[in-house]
Amino acid sequence: MKIVVIGAVAAGTSAAAKARRNDDFAEISIYEKDRDISYSGCGLPYYIGGEIKDIEELTPRDSSFFKKNYEIEIKTEHEVIEINKDQKSLLVKNLKTGEVFNDYYDKLVIATGAAPFVPKVEGIHKDQVFFLRNVQNAVAIKDFIFKNKPKTAVIAGTGFIGFEVLENLLHHQMDVTLVEVADKITPNLDYDMAVYLENLLIKKGVKLLKSKGIAKIAETNVTLSDGQMLQADLVIMATGVRPNTTLAKSIGITLGKTGAIQVNEKMQTNISEIYACGDCIETFSAITGKPVYRPLGSTANKTGRIAGDALTGGGLFYRGNLGTGIFKLFDLTIASTGLSEREALAEGFEIEICHNIKPDKPSYFKGEEMVIKAVADKKSKRLLGVQIIGTTGVDKRIDVFATLITYKATVDELFHLDLAYAPPFSTTKDPVHYTGMILDNAISGGRKLITANEIRNMTADIQIIDVRSVDDFNKKGSVDQAINIPHASLREKLGELDENKVTVTYCNKGVTGNASQNVLLNHGFKNVYNLSGGHKFYVGSKQES
Ligand SMILES: Cc1cc2nc3c(=O)[nH]c(=O)nc-3n(C[C@H](O)[C@H](O)[C@H](O)COP(=O)(O)OP(=O)(O)OC[C@H]3O[C@@H](n4cnc5c(N)ncnc54)[C@H](O)[C@@H]3O)c2cc1C
Repeated sequence: MKIVVIGAVAAGTSAAAKARRNDDFAEISIYEKDRDISYSGCGLPYYIGGEIKDIEELTPRDSSFFKKNYEIEIKTEHEVIEINKDQKSLLVKNLKTGEVFNDYYDKLVIATGAAPFVPKVEGIHKDQVFFLRNVQNAVAIKDFIFKNKPKTAVIAGTGFIGFEVLENLLHHQMDVTLVEVADKITPNLDYDMAVYLENLLIKKGVKLLKSKGIAKIAETNVTLSDGQMLQADLVIMATGVRPNTTLAKSIGITLGKTGAIQVNEKMQTNISEIYACGDCIETFSAITGKPVYRPLGSTANKTGRIAGDALTGGGLFYRGNLGTGIFKLFDLTIASTGLSEREALAEGFEIEICHNIKPDKPSYFKGEEMVIKAVADKKSKRLLGVQIIGTTGVDKRIDVFATLITYKATVDELFHLDLAYAPPFSTTKDPVHYTGMILDNAISGGRKLITANEIRNMTADIQIIDVRSVDDFNKKGSVDQAINIPHASLREKLGELDENKVTVTYCNKGVTGNASQNVLLNHGFKNVYNLSGGHKFYVGSKQES
């Protein structure tokens, strides 16, 4: 059998290596139009910043590695320019010599990946404008910085690549401005979490402009959609990617709703001997089963392995994804998995939301707070999605949550997880346990939650009780219209409150607010809510005007 793969980064090399593991007799070759193969795209921003000194560290494997270890032939700087599906042949161009030749396949894997989205902006092709996708882009950006010593930079886009590049340009002492066309940063976060992150970044001195696009790029400046001009010796466009589907489309391979290649659970396209994997394909949500486009290295490796297995007769099949992602920005870690509040509502779920602010370790072990926003389905009690912003311990929690969501855990099950505990690693009840307890109490225990957004938009006649100390109430600000009754004196002041009115309790982060909610409910108050995430999240998620 002759297997040909197009594309030699994450998905293509995974597919080829798995095929070889299953079949030692197949002839396997890969065509790659780029110079580099099997590199870590995810490490490129850190090469630009200097944390990774040598680009070779990101390209540990070359063609000879695959030849020696896997008996796989990789031809770099060879572009597949045409596929003939009837003859099962390919037209290939050697980009070094210009030679064009034919090859054939029994099974073909399309792993052509994705390319940066290039918006229609005047000046987008100028020398100081860069897109970051591959090793050569990263080297070109770093060379530009060393040669031209730019003092100012503009980054368009606030996805993970925009932020990672921001941090790394700041290592070069540049004055950097982030420009985002949407009214919120970071596509994977809900509005409230995005604003929370934004407020943290503003405190760290990050320059951020939202609801503005880049309209024009000149030699040393950019003009924004509202006419504002920014100095920019360097411009980085981090405005997302689009799947490379031209070859697939040209031979009638079906594209899905998202515009990427449609495959079945074995990565097979509508042409049975042609498989596709990685950033060029559409996958599906493990929660809703609906098509999604998730161009991530984690998914590319997985779908590549499945393609390599399937085309050699293996039994692996794809089980969907949660879009789990994580990135670092200064000392912050931002992570998400599953459905956001916005997505869960769009899917028609009736949801419960909690904002849980907890340290990852005890304070005597320098525990640092993280904010966990969790979304659950009220009807089935299933956990649907989680977003976390914190400093330490975020990576561990997001992976526990992703595992829980994968196995369809209900919120009551979280508390019963036997998680590892010792003070250098976590708290006796882990933030994951607390998240489950809060959601379960809200859904099944009558301990209703209200979000900061809901309370801001509430028009009904409600009584809001701030149960923090008098000092906190006076010095740290309070929720509009709140009265202050510290928790310790709540029982003696019950007579001053109207038990029939909708009542909201809150403290700093939610724990004492819940204790006060319990007191009121036990004394016959009918409709009592605790403010999710307390005053801290209320203030943190408030848009600065
Ligand atoms: C800066 C950056 C940071 C990232 N960070 C993360 C991260 O932290 N976590 C994460 O999960 N993901 C991350 N990613 C995404 C990850 O790198 C991609 O999801 C992954 O590289 C996709 O692999 P792929 O093989 O499907 O596609 P690609 O990497 O796009 O590779 C496809 C290859 O196919 C080749 N090709 C295309 N057409 C042809 C043709 N006709 N003939 C021959 N060759 C062809 C292309 O030249 C390309 O080399 C990051 C990406 C970037 C750019």
